[in-house]
Amino acid sequence: MATDAFIGLGSNLAEPSVQLAQALVGLAALPDTELVAQSPFYSSRPVGPQDQPDFINGAVWLRTTLSPLTLLDHLQGIEQAHGRERGRHWGPRTLDLDLLIYGNETLSGPRLNVPHPELPNRDFVLQPLLDLNPALTLPDGRNIADLRRGCPDNQLRKLHPVAQTPLPGE
Ligand code: AMP
Repeated sequence: MATDAFIGLGSNLAEPSVQLAQALVGLAALPDTELVAQSPFYSSRPVGPQDQPDFINGAVWLRTTLSPLTLLDHLQGIEQAHGRERGRHWGPRTLDLDLLIYGNETLSGPRLNVPHPELPNRDFVLQPLLDLNPALTLPDGRNIADLRRGCPDNQLRKLHPVAQTPLPGE
């Protein structure tokens, strides 16, 4: 049976909006997986070190029969194809793909923690999830909309859906 999974995308190097657009193509081509919907993209201030460019973030809703770890393998394959190098913690990156939510499952292991542990603290993750499904909840019953209201502000700006540039007046 297929499971609804939500993936977070982020980039702040090498033309981030191009990185995200190409990542969407890779996600849409995953085996045994349907891309249900993609969120708008947002720009956000970096978490952690501030001497780096703003990020562009978004999320996608997948329906998949891949296991969580196989899905993670594919996400890391797409990251590597984008020249991702693991540098300093919370440092700049060409492409970051996180498995945010995998159905109603809670997983804790050396390679994978789901729901993603930082999800409740990141408006640039919560807002795209809300855009995809305003009724979304975590396995522990917490509501994404409530988490979004209580979350720190990373100065999110919604980008134009086609040009991925800031909308007038925003
Ligand atoms: P990051 O620097 O955010 O790309 O972290 C990547 C590391 O986090 C990898 O070693 C993954 O195995 C691990 N990880 C744990 N949970 C997750 C998750 N839910 N999504 C993506 N990576 C995860």
